[in-house]
Parts: sequence; C-alpha cells; structure tokens
Amino acid sequence: MEVLLENILIYAGVFLLIIIIVFLYLRKQKVESRQVDEKIRIAKEEGLHEPVSLHPVVDVNKCIRTGACISACPEKDILGISNGKATIINASRCVGHGACFHACPVEAITLYIGTEKRGVELPHVSQNFETNVSGIFIAGEIGGMGLIKNAVEQGKQAVENLARTIQKNIPADYDLVVIGAGPAGISATLTARKLGLKVLTLEQDTLGGTVFTFPRSKIVMTSAMDLPLHGKVKLFETSKAELLDLWVNVLNKNKITITENSKVDSIVAGDGRFVLGTTAGDHYSTRRVLLAIGRRGSPRKLNVPGEELDKVAYRLLEPELLSGKRIVVVGGGDSAVESALLLMDENRVTLMYRGEVFGRLKPKNSEKIKEAAQSGKIDVRFKTSLTTIDREFVTYHSDDLEGPIELKNDLVFIFAGGELPTQFLEKSGILITRKFGEAILKH
Ligand SMILES: Cc1cc2nc3c(=O)[nH]c(=O)nc-3n(C[C@H](O)[C@H](O)[C@H](O)COP(=O)(O)OP(=O)(O)OC[C@H]3O[C@@H](n4cnc5c(N)ncnc54)[C@H](O)[C@@H]3O)c2cc1C
Repeated sequence: MEVLLENILIYAGVFLLIIIIVFLYLRKQKVESRQVDEKIRIAKEEGLHEPVSLHPVVDVNKCIRTGACISACPEKDILGISNGKATIINASRCVGHGACFHACPVEAITLYIGTEKRGVELPHVSQNFETNVSGIFIAGEIGGMGLIKNAVEQGKQAVENLARTIQKNIPADYDLVVIGAGPAGISATLTARKLGLKVLTLEQDTLGGTVFTFPRSKIVMTSAMDLPLHGKVKLFETSKAELLDLWVNVLNKNKITITENSKVDSIVAGDGRFVLGTTAGDHYSTRRVLLAIGRRGSPRKLNVPGEELDKVAYRLLEPELLSGKRIVVVGGGDSAVESALLLMDENRVTLMYRGEVFGRLKPKNSEKIKEAAQSGKIDVRFKTSLTTIDREFVTYHSDDLEGPIELKNDLVFIFAGGELPTQFLEKSGILITRKFGEAILKH
C-alpha cells in the first residue's frame, strides 16, 4: 500500500512537473508572440513591414518553428515567431542574404522580389548583362540581386562580356565608362583594367556605394569572392572600414582613380558610341557603358550657390561624431526630421521646410518633432527655402518675412527627395518591368 502510494506520488510529481514545463513553455511562447506582434505593429506604423525588394516568404504549413531562419539572418528583426510560425517583421530591411532560405530545415522559405501590393521595377537585361539599348550593360543590385558578392561577380562578368563587343574603330574617348563605384562598379573597373580597356569610372558620391553608407559598427557579412587584379578575398564577417580599405588598396596598387562627386545625368547614343553628360557639365564619349548604379537613387539637389561646399551633405552618416555645430537641415520628410532629431541634443539645429506643415510623417516622428519644436530643441522654420550657402553662414527666403535672411552656420544637410535609379534608366531608353512578387530563390 505504502509502495503504491509512493508510486502514485512519484507519477503525480512527474505529471505536475510536465504540466509546469508545458505551461511555462506555452507562456514563453505567448510572451514571445506578443513581443513579435508588437514589433509587427510598430513596423507597419513605420512603413517597414511591407517589403521593398527581396524578402523571405514563409510557408506556414511547413514551418515547424525551429527559429533557424531567425538565428541565421545577419540583420535584426527581419523575421520573428508569432503563434508558433515564422513571420516577417521588418521585411523592408531584408538585403537578400538568403541565409534564412538555406537555414530552414524543412524548406519552408522562398525568397521573393516585389509583392502583389508593391511591385519592384527591374530593367530588362540579357544573359550577358546587356540591356535593350545595345552597348549599355547593367551589373549589381540595380539588376535585382542584392549583396556585395553578387555585385562583385556581376561587375566582373558584365565587363568580360562587353569587352568582346567593343569596336575600336569607332572614335571615342573611352572603351568603357562605368557609372557608379559600389562593389559592382569597382569590380567592373578592375576587370576593365585587367583586360586592357581604357576605362573611366564616375561616381556621384563617394567610392564604396551603399557599403560606404553603412553605420561604422555594422558587421558586413559576405562570402568568399574573386576580386579582379587581387584574387580570392576570404572575408566572411568583416567591417565596413576593412572592406573599403581593401578596395582602395587594390585600386591604388593598380593606379586607378575613380572620379568621385560626378553624377551622370544623360546618356545619348549615336554613331555606335555614347556621350555621357554629368550635372557638372562634363561630357565623355565612350564605346560601351556599364550602369552599376545600385538601387538607392540620387539625392535631389537644391541648385543653390555654394551647394558644392564640403559642409553640405545629402545623408547623415555618423551623427554621434557631431557636437557644438550650427546645423541647418533642409526638408520636411521623415529623413529630414529623423536627422534633425538625432542631431538636436549636441548641436543647434534649424529645420527648414518650404511647406506650411509637415506632410506625411511617420506618427512617431510627427510626435517627436512637435515636442522638439515646442521645447525649443529644434528651431523649425516653415515656408522657408535656402537661397545661398557660404562657408560661415547660409541665407534663406521666408514667405512671411522681408528680404533674404542670414543665419550663422557650420553644416547643411539636405533631404529634398531624389531621383529613383529606374527613372535614370528610363531616361536612357532602358526598358523596365514591374515584378509583383516573383520567386527568385526557391526549393
Ligand atoms: C543596411 C544595409 C545592410 C547591408 N548589409 C549587407 C551585408 O552585410 N552583406 C552584403 O553582402 N550586402 C549587404 N547589403 C547590400 C549591399 O550593400 C548591396 O547589395 C551592394 O552594395 C550593391 O552593390 P552595387 O554596386 O550594385 O550598388 P551600390 O553599392 O548601391 O553602388 C551604386 C553606386 O552608384 C552610384 N550612382 C548612382 N547613380 C549614379 C549616377 N547617376 N552617376 C554616378 N554615380 C551614380 C551611387 O552613388 C553608388 O555609389 C546591405 C544593404 C543595406 C542597405
């Protein structure tokens, strides 16, 4: 009897323990689901939930919630688990590593480009990277596939292909002009030099492309790649600085100069060659063109005197390095407002916007900027437009006040929207198609 009672107690104890474990597990799951649902809510509010380009789609009937996709993703909060299934959170931040696709043990993930709601515009390119405009080629992210390694590989392949089509008898300054000096453009330039082509590379901004704009602390994930004129690069997890140093060293070693701060805004075809025009008014003729312009687009300029000064920038890279400056931020969108908010604690910030009120801001930004204006942390000036930029000051026009007004100033950040890369392609005669959710990596 005593033994029986003891056994019953043991079984009851084990049973209770199992119940407690299951209860704790389910509670943890519920809490995690709630946290993920909250992140999705915020992502929707901030417009980050809807994918902009490449993104994973989870087959919920296959998903067994191992979480392998989440651990494998090098970016943060792209995927999470809610109600026992993997789901997307900030899909717009996906850069297409595809690590989730490979990590899923039950092949529940497919990588798509575009969605039913939001199409992604992609140029028409043949297998050898040539567009419908004979002689203009495309490489890198503008063609649809993200990632540094892909861009490097495509830059190399595109130049190897186009080199075979060059007709030296056509008079031109260059065999090839590469537009854009991100990973694709750098690799293309090195390949062109390796093949003995006369090449010019024009970059509207700074060498490095999107990689240059990464936060300093960002870990860059990549895979082994073959860099022309250098050989195998076996970096897997590296820093932005290390990668940029590598490119600069290889370019310097081969005495190649990239022409920075030179934005191409026209490509005119004729007589078997192309004449490229830049916003600075320079013209170059070339037998072939490679567009390696990425997908970030080109910032719109104000076209005011002094805009070329080095105190003017079109993006805010490292706000934490700025303090004690008198800063003018121009623009009324989220980028302008977010930058002003990031700078306000350590600097004197004036936010200039030509509108009467802010337009469609994310709700959080709208709230924060109101508070900052009311507390005097940011001097918000509506109905104003910058008219000149000088070393020590700026002048601006106000709809409500007389004459040009002068303001002491150290730095200017302009966020006035921009031209989409596809607009530039269309202007050059390149056909574009919208992809509304097309699987590009599937099992
Ligand atoms: C936040 C973030 C994190 C990422 N993390 C990773 C990562 O860890 N690993 C990874 O492999 N990939 C990552 N990526 C993706 C990677 O950065 C891109 O896939 C890659 O940079 C694409 O290279 P690209 O040469 O095609 O284009 P880009 O790097 O975008 O370069 C295009 C260049 O063309 C220039 N340009 C554009 N128009 C003109 C013009 N009209 N005239 C002159 N120049 C012009 C631009 O200024 C730019 O410098 C990340 C992307 C982002 C946004």
